Amino acid sequence: MTKVSVDDTCIACGTCVEICPDVFELEGDIASVKNGADLSLDEKIIEAAEACPVESIHYEK
Ligand code: SF4
Repeated sequence: MTKVSVDDTCIACGTCVEICPDVFELEGDIASVKNGADLSLDEKIIEAAEACPVESIHYEK
């Protein structure tokens, strides 16, 4: 990955954090990408993006 982001449609369900805690974290009522996250975890990032119920996770390979 070169870029991963979470947009403001996130409903803070926690799924992405469960799937890939090295990259995503929950801050209050929105998920975000951790500072210094390991963006080489492509498969997990894609899995989290596909599992997000509201398609809030965006990435560029
Ligand atoms: S899976 Fe989607 S809706 Fe759930 S916390 Fe992550 S970004 Fe937000």
